[in-house]
Amino acid sequence: MRAQIPDVSDAPAAHNDHKNGGSGGFDEAMENLVEAISERKVEPIRIAYLGLRSANGKIPTREILDCVGRSITSKSGSVWEMIVSAFSHGHCVMCNDGVSPCRTCHGSGMVNDYVCPDCDGLGIEVCMFCAGTGWSDHHDIPAEIRPDAILRRIKHVKKDLAILDKVSEADMLASAEKLDPHQKRELASRLIRLQARLTRMAGVEVGNDTEHVAPFSAAAARIKRFLEALRLQHPQDEENQ
Ligand SMILES: [Zn+2]
Ligand SMILES: [Zn+2]
Repeated sequence: MRAQIPDVSDAPAAHNDHKNGGSGGFDEAMENLVEAISERKVEPIRIAYLGLRSANGKIPTREILDCVGRSITSKSGSVWEMIVSAFSHGHCVMCNDGVSPCRTCHGSGMVNDYVCPDCDGLGIEVCMFCAGTGWSDHHDIPAEIRPDAILRRIKHVKKDLAILDKVSEADMLASAEKLDPHQKRELASRLIRLQARLTRMAGVEVGNDTEHVAPFSAAAARIKRFLEALRLQHPQDEENQ
């Protein structure tokens, strides 16, 4: 299956107007990127950057990005940041945000009065393609952008983790009991996504930035305990139906 970031051949029809990326193709690719950056839209920025990369025949230089920046009275630094951000926010093609309601129990966590065997009572199905991160694969990010995009993802995960760290484990487990099934599923979805991202990023090293590894692994293990508390426990488990 083709990965999420479209090849330039998948880019909008405008690219069909030129062959082999002549200067017309380059100008048009520049215009597309200027437009996408101006509109600050993630998907168009990714497509336009890949289009420019292809029309240019090589990785666009900072000078080229400077030109984009000038066209929208923005600094090239921020153009680069926006491109990095767009790729770091790339979504998995196979799912919506890493998780979806379990198909076996339709998200209820129960099947015929028993805890659903497929989701173990969480009512959630985890995407096998992205393991629940909801993110595009790192290898779908152009090599020149990948390190910065990964650092951005690490920053994102650290921010989510800081929110989680504010809640004590005891409070979390106590509040889990008071939630209705819908709220439980919402919370479990967020936790599964964060857990998946922590696990994914714990295994990633970017330059010297490896300090996240141990805390990310520990946090992923802590989330596992929260998720256990959110699972439906059938009150009549002992009864034989
Ligand atoms: Zn289920
Ligand atoms: Zn996915």
